Parts: sequence; structure tokens; C-alpha cells
Amino acid sequence: MRNIPFSPPDITQTEIDAVVEVLKSGWITTGPKTKAFEKGIANWCNTDIAVCLNSQTACAEMTLRILGVGPGDEVIVPAYTYTASASVICHVGATPVMIDCKENSFEMDYNKMANAITEKTKVIIPVDLAGVMCDYDTIFDIVESKKDLFKPNSPIQDAFDRIIVMADGAHAFGAMRNGKKCGSVADFTNFSFHAVKNMTTAEGGAVTWRNHKGIDNEALYKQYMLLSLHGQTKDAFAKNHGTSWEYDVVDTQYKCNMPDVLGALGLAQLSRYDEILDKRHKMIDMYNEAFKDMNLQVLNHHDENSRSSGHLYFVRFLGKGAEFRNKFYHKMAENGVMCNVHFKPLPMLTAYKVKGFDITDYPNAYNMHKNQLTLPMNSKMSFDDAQYVIDTFKKVYAELTAEEN
Ligand SMILES: *Cc1c(COP(=O)(O)O)cnc(C)c1O
Repeated sequence: MRNIPFSPPDITQTEIDAVVEVLKSGWITTGPKTKAFEKGIANWCNTDIAVCLNSQTACAEMTLRILGVGPGDEVIVPAYTYTASASVICHVGATPVMIDCKENSFEMDYNKMANAITEKTKVIIPVDLAGVMCDYDTIFDIVESKKDLFKPNSPIQDAFDRIIVMADGAHAFGAMRNGKKCGSVADFTNFSFHAVKNMTTAEGGAVTWRNHKGIDNEALYKQYMLLSLHGQTKDAFAKNHGTSWEYDVVDTQYKCNMPDVLGALGLAQLSRYDEILDKRHKMIDMYNEAFKDMNLQVLNHHDENSRSSGHLYFVRFLGKGAEFRNKFYHKMAENGVMCNVHFKPLPMLTAYKVKGFDITDYPNAYNMHKNQLTLPMNSKMSFDDAQYVIDTFKKVYAELTAEEN
């Protein structure tokens, strides 16, 4: 029997050497490595600029704060996602408005999204689930068509003069759609480099944004720096390497910068990222081919116009319920294959139930969730491991369906 962990970090000697170099350099927190990583991210995403912070969650929260979103505002988010997509809305005091999935789809229902837009809506947070980019053309068309409802209440909202689209790209670094890279499609995109993601800095995140009339990229970058480092006008690197110790603190702000140890780890990962993506897509093709005649719905990771980041391999057991899926999960684990479930829709979690959300209002999300399973698929696995996952999956499927009959 093999042991296939769900999502181990893909760390090679390149990453180890890069981290050791920083540890020996005399400078370990935010400085030249993190700045170089930011340039690398922007370059990869075809944007002019990027900011690295210590998580996707911090990137999303700081972006909402910079946009001036707060109490009295509404922010639209899918019900089928991880809590981080929505909790940041609560952190800034705004109200999350959750949207059900389209029937038989992991994507949010864009008609319902359009109908949920009110005069209070400031931001929409589409989630590029499993690394598959959302239909941003439709999202922007809807945002444009509802322009008249928008009531800006900050200078940056004035510059947009419409709802702002802030993607949760936690899964989607490296994804493409219609020839455009994730990070250069939504107004703002927040990426995660958490340990289980495709590309990791252990913990970390980045935000990229598209150029927009009336928005000064350098000024915006400075705002992220202030917000993420106590509102202090000079970071530690500048204080240590400049000619003056003098600084000011302009506001009581947050602390979520990315240290150079992690920036260096990210740079090393980025140098291998083409290879990592390529391997993931080869494995996806292997799984797709192996499962094509089974009674499953698998999430599509590429077509003629798009290629995902290949982050998660989703299957749905058609015609089955939660009991079957749960048994399946345990049987796979007994055979050494660690699977996962993505996600438990937010209205099923205590934090959102107490806010009044109820899963019966999100029937499509529940139906997607109840028979969903995520198979291990990552760049640490060998192709023999992937074959073992396939063989085990088919064996368990045969056993469990035989048991039912
Ligand atoms: C992992 C994840 C996040 C949060 O990323 P962090 O870097 O851990 O803050 C946000 N959204 C989704 C969908 C995620 O899976």
C-alpha cells in the first residue's frame, strides 16, 4: 500500500538554498527578497505592480479597507467557498451577501448575483475555485449594466464609479482565460501562498490590480505598505539602510507584511512554477482519461480558451448523497489515499448560521457539496502515485456500488 498525502508542499533544494541564503544574509524580514518577489508576481501576471503580504486573507482585507468599504456596505460573495472569502467582509464591518451556485455547477449563479445588487453593493468577490477562473466577461457586463445603482463613498470608489470586482484567486495563481492571466482580469486579485496551495511561501499572499484611470499605482502601493506595517512611514529596511532614523506613524493600523525569508522561498517556487503547472495538468489529463466512462462529474480544467492553475481535482458522485461520499472518503484513507472535501458551503458553518444564513436557501450549493470529493493531485506526487490513486478510486467505487445493490 502507498501513502498519498493530500497536499504536501513541493520543496526542493532550490527553495532550501534560497532560504538558507537569506538566513545567513543578516536581513530576514521585509526587504529586497520580498520586493523582488513582488516584481516576479507582477511580471508573471502581466500587471504593472503587485504587493506581497502574509496571507490572501490579509490582502483581501487590506484591499477592502483601501477601497473604503465598511459598515452599511454590502459585498457579494459565493456561498460555495472557504470562509476567508467572506470573513474579510465581516472584518471591515460590511455585510456579506451570499449567492447560490448555478444548478449542477461549482460557479456562482450570475443571474442571482445580478439580482442581489443594490445601492449598497460596493464589491463583488468571485472565487476562482480549484484554480478555474470565473466568467469575468459576464461579471463585468452585469456590473456595467447596474452602474446607475452605484453610490461611491470614497475617492477610489469615485475613480471606479461602479462596483469593484475583487477576485479571490487563492487557488488560481497561474490560471489563464481568453489569453489573459489571472491577476490581470479582475480589478483586484488576491492570491494565497499558504502551505497547501500550488505555489507556497509557507504562509503568504499577493494582491495584483489592473491599471485604472484616476488611480495612481505608486500611491496605492504606498497605502498597502502603510496599512500592513502599523501605519509607519518607513519600513524596518528603510530605517536600517537609510541615512536617518526619523519616521512617523500616521494611523493605528495593521501588521501583515511578508518577511524576506518567505519572499525568497516564493522566488524559488516561482522559478519552478512552469514545471509545477505542467505536471499538475499532466495528472489532470491522466485522471480525466481514467474516469471518463464513470458516472461522475469532474471539474473541467481546460478548454480551447482557458487553462486553470490545476489546483484541485473535484469529482461528484452523480446520483449519490453525503453518506456515499463520506464512506468513499474513509475507504480511500484506509487504502492510504488522503482525499478532502471542498467546500462545506458557508451557510452550513456556525459563524454564518449565527448571522442568519441558512443552507436551505442555497440548494444548488448543497447539492454540489453533498457528493463532492477532492482527490490528491499535486506536483510532489509521481505519476505512479497518480496511477495508484486512480486504481484505488476505481476499486473503492466498485466495492461501494456493489454494497448498495
Ligand atoms: C486558502 C484560501 C484562502 C485563504 O488564503 P490564506 O493565504 O490562508 O489567507 C482564501 N480563499 C480560498 C478559496 C482559499 O482556499
